[in-house]
Amino acid sequence: MPGRQLQMLNAIAAAANAATSVDSALQTTVDELCRHLGWPVGHAYLQQESTPPFLASARIWHLDDAARFASFRAESEQISFTAGVGMPGRVWQAHQPVWLGDLSADNNFLRSACAREAGLHAGFAFPVLTGGQVTAVLEFFAPVRTPPDEAMLELCSQIGAMLGRVFERQRLEHNLSELNRDLERRVAQRTIELTESRAALQDFLDNANDLIQSVDMEGRYRFVNRAWCETLGYTQEEAAALSMFDVIDPAWHEHCQTLFKELLKTARPLRMETVFRTKDGRPVQVEGNINLRHEAGRPDVTRGVFRDITQRKQTEQALQVSQARWKLAVTASKDGIWDWDMVGRQVYVSPQAKALIGYADDELRNGMDVWSELVHPEDRPRLARALKRHLRRETPVFECEHRMRAKDGGYRWILARGAALFDDRGRPQRMLGAFIDVTPRRLAEEQMIANLAREKELGEMKTRFVAMASHELRTPLATFSLAVDFFRQHWSRLQPVQVEENLQTIAAGVQQLRHVLDHLLLAGQDDEGQMRCHPAPLELTGFCRQLADEVKATHRAPHLIEWVFSRREWVVRLDPRLLRHILTNLLGNACKYSPGGGSVRCGVAEASGGIVLTVADEGIGIPPEDQLRLFDFFFRAGNVGGIPGTGLGLLVVQRCVAAHGGRIEFTSTPGAGTCFTVCLPQAQG
Ligand code: ATP
Ligand code: MG
Repeated sequence: MPGRQLQMLNAIAAAANAATSVDSALQTTVDELCRHLGWPVGHAYLQQESTPPFLASARIWHLDDAARFASFRAESEQISFTAGVGMPGRVWQAHQPVWLGDLSADNNFLRSACAREAGLHAGFAFPVLTGGQVTAVLEFFAPVRTPPDEAMLELCSQIGAMLGRVFERQRLEHNLSELNRDLERRVAQRTIELTESRAALQDFLDNANDLIQSVDMEGRYRFVNRAWCETLGYTQEEAAALSMFDVIDPAWHEHCQTLFKELLKTARPLRMETVFRTKDGRPVQVEGNINLRHEAGRPDVTRGVFRDITQRKQTEQALQVSQARWKLAVTASKDGIWDWDMVGRQVYVSPQAKALIGYADDELRNGMDVWSELVHPEDRPRLARALKRHLRRETPVFECEHRMRAKDGGYRWILARGAALFDDRGRPQRMLGAFIDVTPRRLAEEQMIANLAREKELGEMKTRFVAMASHELRTPLATFSLAVDFFRQHWSRLQPVQVEENLQTIAAGVQQLRHVLDHLLLAGQDDEGQMRCHPAPLELTGFCRQLADEVKATHRAPHLIEWVFSRREWVVRLDPRLLRHILTNLLGNACKYSPGGGSVRCGVAEASGGIVLTVADEGIGIPPEDQLRLFDFFFRAGNVGGIPGTGLGLLVVQRCVAAHGGRIEFTSTPGAGTCFTVCLPQAQG
């Protein structure tokens, strides 16, 4: 290779090596080749990636005279060449240099007119091959027709290959920088993500309520979150200057050191409880977990997450104290205590409560069902009502006095008092209360009520007695007094008839007094005394008829007393004395309380081996409101008016009936009459 060519090749090679871009390598090449050839025009095309691909001017020119070749340049830059079209297209298609010795003689040279005008007559072009592909085409033009120079074309092939490497290098550089850019983009993206996730983590840690810390092996704080700072009263900067033993309560140092050693030994996360001290010395009780992080195989930091449990501990302590107090109250009190967990549906009933109704603690299960089962059936609705009212918050305190069946089968009076605890929505959660045995008080009350009733009854009885006495005793006494006066004044002048009349009046008064006294004495006797029954054989029909006659005579009654016997001759075993009291009183009443006369119907019949006596009248009857008290001492119905009586006759009758083991009943309609029925079982033997 001649020296000039070599020189040119070296210059291009040096330029290609040093080229920072394909453009500068192409520019150097077109310049060097034009200079070497002494040709005025050199131009480079670049292959454009499109579909289909084409060659377009790279706008890299060597022009000896820019003005002279301006229109040639303009036309060249306008045309784009596809494969096989024009000189550049042919080079591209053949992958070979093309030499046109006479441009005007070539009919596939598209710019021949323009070239001619510029005084260009010959030209050649060669490809730049990169990896076997045409990436650029360089063309050169001479002012004279010039035959092909094979050596030159050979040289251009080498130059094309050399430039191809520049392209290759540029492509690699481009790819590399693309990769770099991509990498940078991804790094930037990752950095943003990392920053964001760090911010999110920081935010997360700072918004945590727990105290989060990271402590290095020297015990210095590497990280503390906001909750840590706020709870302990330090700033982040102050925390960074602290040792963990500045924060842990001195009483807990040893414990924490032991835990720390264990953590180093086992490297397993640990659960711990300790006490921190705030900057102003306040204790903060915490519980949490600590773990160990290794860096390059060596322990680096401990990380801890703690929860402030000061409040909880205080509550627990308060609870313990109150539970101890409660226990003390339960055991010390002789009253029973109950605790009903309405959510967990459990009941606690203290041993003392069970003892109130005679049970040992283990003899009665703690269950609502067991307890309510023991409540007296009559008291259950009242208890349920009181409970319901309290649970509806209608009463501040639940209170109910009710009976409970004791172990011995008897009933004890229990005062149940309690109060419910409600949640925010007003639903009852729990009820606490006490059982108090009020049986003695209740019995005393009952006794008192009975005494009062008795006293009242006695008072009333006294009033009735006084009323009776003033009438039934005064009347005969007044009669006697009048008779005495009469006899005193008229004794000497009295006719026997008058004496007889007065003596009869006195006898009637005596009879009345006897009647009163008899009744008083009979009513004053107790059942065990004179009222004992002594049965004896007795002919019933005759006995009854005779008594009826006596009654009629005594009462001077105009009544018609009719008898109906279910048997004719009838011997029974009854106590004649007691039967006399029964019949004279019932018949006497029937006559007395039928002031207008009328008939009294009496019946004697057999029933269930006994005797049934009935005495029915058509008299004034008994007002319903008085019927219940008819057998009380001195009681007389409100409608008796002036009819005399002690109010003791029926009481005597009742006692006589009872002495026989029988029973007495009556029905009565005011104004229509009364019917008494006496059933007497017959004595055997
Ligand atoms: P006593 O019997 O001592 O003469 P008494 O008739 O008033 O007095 P009870 O025989 O005990 O007393 O009767 C009590 C009361 O019952 C009477 O006062 C009267 O009000 C009423 N009573 C009793 N029997 C009759 C009757 N057949 N018809 C209407 N009321 C009667
Ligand atoms: Mg009577």
